[in-house]
This record gives sequence, C-alpha cells and structure tokens, in this order.
Amino acid sequence: MISRADLEARDRADPLGHFRARFLLPDGVIYLDGNSLGTLPRTTAEVMARVVAEEWGDDLITSWNRHGWVDLPQTVGDLIAPLIGAEPSEVVACDSTSVNLFKLLAAALDLRPGRRVVVAEEHGFPTDLYMVQGLRQLVPSLELRLVETESLVDALGPEVAVLLVNHVDYRTSRIADMAGLTRAAHEAGALALFDLAHSAGAIEVDLAGADLAVGCGYKFLNGGPGAPAFLYVAKRHQHARQPLSGWFGHAEPFAFDATYRPADGIARFLSGTPGVLGLRALAEGVRLTAEAGPRRLHAKATALGDLFLDLVAARCPSLAPACPRTARGSQVSFRHLEAYAVMQALIARGIIGDVRQPDILRFGLAPLYNRFVDVFDAVEQLADILDTGAWDRPELKRREKVT
Ligand SMILES: *Cc1c(COP(=O)(O)O)cnc(C)c1O
Repeated sequence: MISRADLEARDRADPLGHFRARFLLPDGVIYLDGNSLGTLPRTTAEVMARVVAEEWGDDLITSWNRHGWVDLPQTVGDLIAPLIGAEPSEVVACDSTSVNLFKLLAAALDLRPGRRVVVAEEHGFPTDLYMVQGLRQLVPSLELRLVETESLVDALGPEVAVLLVNHVDYRTSRIADMAGLTRAAHEAGALALFDLAHSAGAIEVDLAGADLAVGCGYKFLNGGPGAPAFLYVAKRHQHARQPLSGWFGHAEPFAFDATYRPADGIARFLSGTPGVLGLRALAEGVRLTAEAGPRRLHAKATALGDLFLDLVAARCPSLAPACPRTARGSQVSFRHLEAYAVMQALIARGIIGDVRQPDILRFGLAPLYNRFVDVFDAVEQLADILDTGAWDRPELKRREKVT
C-alpha cells in the first residue's frame, strides 16, 4: 500500500514540483478543478496591477502602439502555438471558444463548397453542438450528423465538410486519436476540426496535419475567468473566409473603408477589438505552461491520474471509473448516483472538484501545481465520505447555478 510519506518523497523528486510556488493558492484547499478554471499565477497578479495602473491609467490610448496591445492576439497566439504543435502565425488568441468554433465551422464550409454535413460526437461538449445548430440559421442546408465517438470514421462520406472532435472528452477524459481521425477525414475529402479545451496546457498536442482547432484560455492555460480562447488555422487554409468579419480582421482596419477586405493570414480570423486585460493575463499563464513543456506536463498528468485510480480502487471499491486507464487526459472521473452530493461533501472539506450530468464526479489534475500528496489526501476524504455516508444530507443536494 502506498503511504503518504512515499508520496511526499515523490513530490520532492518531481521535476515540475517547483512550479507550484509560482501560483497564489489558498491555504487549506486541494484544488482539483483546473480543468474548469485554472489558478492564479503570481506574475499575473503583478502584471495586471501594472497594466491597469500604468498602461491603461497613464499611457491610455497610446498603449495600443507603445505597449503592443494591437498585436496581442498574434503575440499570445504565437506563445500558444508550440504547446499544440502549431507554427507561429497559425494561432490567434481571441473571443470565446464558442465564437471561435462558429468562425471555423463557417470557414470549413467555405473551404469545402458543396459539402454541407458536420460530423460530431453525440456526447461532445454541448456548446460545440449548439454553435453548429446556430450556424444552421444562416446555412439552412447544413446537417449536423451526431454519432458515438467510436463511429466517427464510419459517418464520413463525400457530403461531409468537416469532422468536429473533442481532443479530450470533458466527461470521460478519453484522448481522441488525432492523427488517425485527421487521416480518415482527409481520405473522405473533409476537414478535421479539434476542440482542445481539455488538452491544451495539460497534455501533449500534436495537430499532426489537422486543419482547424479551437481551445480554451481559462482551463489548463490558467488565463483567468473568461480568458480569451484561441483558434488555429493551418497555413494552407488561411485563405478561407469567416463570416464574423469585424474590423480587426480587415486588411487595413484604420483605413475605415466601407467594404470588408480580409487581412492576409491568420489575422482575418479576428473580429473586434482585442480584450487587452484578458490577453495580458492569458500570456502569463501560457508562459508558465510553456516553461514546463507539454512533454513533462503530460507525463505528470498521467502519473497523477494513475495514482488517483489506484488509490480509488483500493480505498473506494464501490466507485466505478468513468475514464480509461490509458489514453487519458489530465482528469479522472467516476460514476456515482449521488455525484452532486458527494462532491458538495468534498468541497465542504476543502477538496474542490466538480460534477457533470448525470452522475460524473470529475477531478482535474493540473500537473503545474497539483501534488501527489494532494491526490492521496483527496482520496482519503473521498473514501471517508463514501464509507460514512456523509454526503447524504439535504443541504448537500441543493443545486447552485454553476456546477
Ligand atoms: C470549456 C469548454 C468550452 C468553453 O467554451 P466557452 O465558449 O469558453 O464557454 C468549449 N468546448 C469544450 C470542449 C470545453 O470543455
């Protein structure tokens, strides 16, 4: 049986162990929700105070040029690129994941004229499916073909414009075979579009010839609540048109031309004015992540998850894993009929994870700041809550707006 002392030793030997001190983490909390909202890097708190007081406060509008505000979508995009196996000038940071997905779905239809089917996962992240449904208002002939993840390849055909896949599943943590799915999409003449919300910043991502991708800034990239998201368009597709043609995607925004003329390159995938404060915060989170490097992050994410599964198997035998043993992203999940109340009981003890409908307990494992002892302590409390039935209280079953 693994002891807490064994894990303390493992934390001391962890090559990423020193990164934890670079975050402002509250005392008495074991935070296992970095897959929903990442934590606050120390430099972010400092940089934001300076940006607000000096750049906004003192330098005002001159900051657009003087402090490079105008180029932030590209400069932050270039910082993200190596984390996902993209080249510089293939990524911009902007808007939300949902909005970026809308732009890229429309771009995919532009790149595949005559094809009108989007193949996606039935149990994929709902906002992705909602955005396809919204696009259908503008393109009534659009068909959303929903299938189980295992059947994605079988659903491809000559009418399919784009295959939309979650790289890591938000409930089961399964990692999709990005290279294989991309190859299959290309063989069918379709494009491959990946949602990297649960993979960028936590595990290795190699877009491996993929055409398009979107991802999230506030999860494993620690960009802060509602941080800008990012989008990737392979260089060979950057001539595509997207319909949210705002002035920041124009070839010459300050020519104030009445006619839209898209910029060359990735800039045409921008819409309106960049969210400067959000981008400056995101840059700090991305720099820390890049310093650790995807390979080391992935290795530790896997080790933390393996430990979590081993300890649960030993201490909470009634809890069925909802995640695979291998090819797993940086979270573990389990099924429990009273998942919500169990999680509330854990949160009351300072262990923060979350739940997803209908019965999934989710624990995000952020390799930058979670320790092996955190996993040990969390499973000890989980075992106690299950053994004693401490979750079975009415006040733990009252649902709040955000779960
Ligand atoms: C978190 C998440 C999003 C978030 O989209 P927003 O537009 O930022 O709210 C999208 N897709 C997936 C798979 C996610 O996990």
